[in-house]
Amino acid sequence: MSAHQELIERFQRLKHHAAASSEAPVIANFTSLLTQVGFYANQIASVVELEGCPPRHRAPRHPIPEALQHAIGIRSHELYLHQAQVYDLALEGKDVVIATPTASGKSLAFLLPVMARLLADEGATALLLYPTKALAHDQAARLEEFDARLGGVLRPAVYDGDTPTAHRAAIKQHSRILVTNPHGLHLYLGWHQQWARLLGGLVAIVLDEAHVYTGILGAQMAGLWRRLERILSHHRAHPLLLAASASIANPREHLAALTGRAVTLVDNGAGRGPRTLVLWDATRHPTLTPTMQSAYLARHLMRHHHQVVVFSNTRAQAEQIALAGSERGHRMLPYRAGYAPATRRRIEEELREGRLQGVSATSALELGVDVGGLDCAILNGYPGSISSLWQRLGRAGRSMQPSLGVVVLGHDPVARSLVASSDLLLRRAPEAGVIPAEHDEVRARHLVLALAELPCPRDALVRDPRQAALVERLLAEGRLIEEEGVVRSAVRFPHLRTPFVERPPSWRLVLARGSSSDVEHLDDAQALREAHRGAILLHLGTPYRVTRIDEERREVHARPESSHHLTIPSVVRTLSRGRLMGSSTRGPLLVEYREGTLTERVASYQELDPATGQTVRHGVRGRSLRSPVATLALVVADPSALGLAEELVPLGLRGLAHAIDRTLPVLAIGDRGDLGSLTVAGAGTPSLVLFHRTRFHPSSLLARVERELPAIIELAASMIAECGCEDGCAFCVLDHGPEDGRPSRAVTLATARGLIAAMPDGPPGG
Ligand SMILES: [Zn+2]
Repeated sequence: MSAHQELIERFQRLKHHAAASSEAPVIANFTSLLTQVGFYANQIASVVELEGCPPRHRAPRHPIPEALQHAIGIRSHELYLHQAQVYDLALEGKDVVIATPTASGKSLAFLLPVMARLLADEGATALLLYPTKALAHDQAARLEEFDARLGGVLRPAVYDGDTPTAHRAAIKQHSRILVTNPHGLHLYLGWHQQWARLLGGLVAIVLDEAHVYTGILGAQMAGLWRRLERILSHHRAHPLLLAASASIANPREHLAALTGRAVTLVDNGAGRGPRTLVLWDATRHPTLTPTMQSAYLARHLMRHHHQVVVFSNTRAQAEQIALAGSERGHRMLPYRAGYAPATRRRIEEELREGRLQGVSATSALELGVDVGGLDCAILNGYPGSISSLWQRLGRAGRSMQPSLGVVVLGHDPVARSLVASSDLLLRRAPEAGVIPAEHDEVRARHLVLALAELPCPRDALVRDPRQAALVERLLAEGRLIEEEGVVRSAVRFPHLRTPFVERPPSWRLVLARGSSSDVEHLDDAQALREAHRGAILLHLGTPYRVTRIDEERREVHARPESSHHLTIPSVVRTLSRGRLMGSSTRGPLLVEYREGTLTERVASYQELDPATGQTVRHGVRGRSLRSPVATLALVVADPSALGLAEELVPLGLRGLAHAIDRTLPVLAIGDRGDLGSLTVAGAGTPSLVLFHRTRFHPSSLLARVERELPAIIELAASMIAECGCEDGCAFCVLDHGPEDGRPSRAVTLATARGLIAAMPDGPPGG
């Protein structure tokens, strides 16, 4: 029996009682509906049917005030189990994290106990933190409706960079529920005395989408949280924590690492309908690209009256799909970052109300923006993590209705490995959230900010020996000063020049006459790939051709384009060797620290006609992007010492780079994506270079990587050895990279083992 059949059997055992239900025939219909698509060429590689589960309801043990039940329009016995549990735990003073998909009544689970506490005590206040302004505004709108029915006693307000100056004082004086984001909170803590009423009255803090705060961003959030707690105890407030996270492996541990609090985990009780999951092998069609197949699948499903979301991994693909997937009577709009908030709000509303049948999105729709439940989710490519895979698939499913998820996989090695072992994909646990334990620069900056917010006597500050060392260093560097035994920041408001997350200045897209009034901004990397001269880019489903780049004003000028062609850049990344900062030798490895420059350059681009798949022309452009990076190079000075054919070493190093990327979260060094890697072959000394962009985050990440190198390589080797795939997959050694030759498990493992054996400090404890 194949592994795939085994998996299906396993799921069938799970769902045997659901099979008797009336939904079963509808489930089967989704698969047969897919086979009726005009370009069907046997692309269905596997189908898994997941049973639904009924919602569980119960009334909380603690009564909900009558006025509040009226305001939310739900009687207490109609609450979902998780909502009742959160309500009870919160009223008993316990910190909570809910792990639940979007559209499962998560917001109400928080808001109920918050509103109950505020109704019971008129001096009480609450703080709601959302990772983006858009989510904060969504939530505030909802709260305002409830508050109107409660007689306007809660006075919820969004406070962020867009809040008009005229409203600010009133919010500080009167609002009882403040809705903001970490970027704002980070800044407002500098002026906490102005917020004394609100901070002093805090009974609850809601931290939504907590899984977003992972890796370096997680370390920043942990630093911000500690500053917030310190200010709160100064204002004598001890609020509850009500957190929510998408499906990650470790919600409780993640919250503990972020906030230092022990939280009770509450699971989703909303129930869901049966789901059909299909892996679609796009390579079985001779000409249509995976992107076009995703678009046409969406169109087919829309024609059959289903509401569809398609997720792509790039903005350009999301736009293409919206363009190719729409037709008269079946409209699909793109949804992504870069659009004006009003545009996004309009699309969300049309989806919720069912006026829009399709949406083609990027990860921008992964977060909890409320668009209601859709019928079908199509994933144009694997999103890179199991956690995102399920978040995207989870967008399909309204109340208890059957839903469909399709993962469209193309030619790249990662996709091939997923088609070959589809059971692995669906069986894997989601990734864990990670808070790097010792990011010195992050600790340093939050310490300086904290001591600007509230200076502290030196004695109290240096009790912890590690903090003492950091304080000494910051005093020596002049970032802290000491006056009469009290340590404070050298600058009064370091907040003003230390944003929570630094973003490079963006590029503005300037569209020629007759085009959308929407203003779009692109970051450096997007501008490099999508906005070189000659590039065709899509904005709200309309093609434009880039005519001019104004480097000085950071503007990209484009005019409407009549063709429906695409341009695909070929980006070459190179690292300058840069200045040597230090080096050490470990057996056959030379380990070098350098400060270098990463150059990403559009070497050329292809213009394609997506209808025929033909290249219409080639363009050559020299625009490039340079970023300062810190690098850690593992140079294999003597490849023969590794005990495998020398020509295989560069390939093995490439596989190892990918495996190392997956070990960093496990060892709590950083999250995936915190480090980049490049392998360099040729010239006799194959090397693996790990780099970290230093422009905003001076790196102590690399120092930890170097310190724990034997443990990292050892763990990478065991992850590769234990991976259940046949010859290397996305979860062990395969990267999306376009380079030729794919590292196999065997070669990578031999390389890793050769390195471990040859390193004098060997495996940890060895
Ligand atoms: Zn594998």
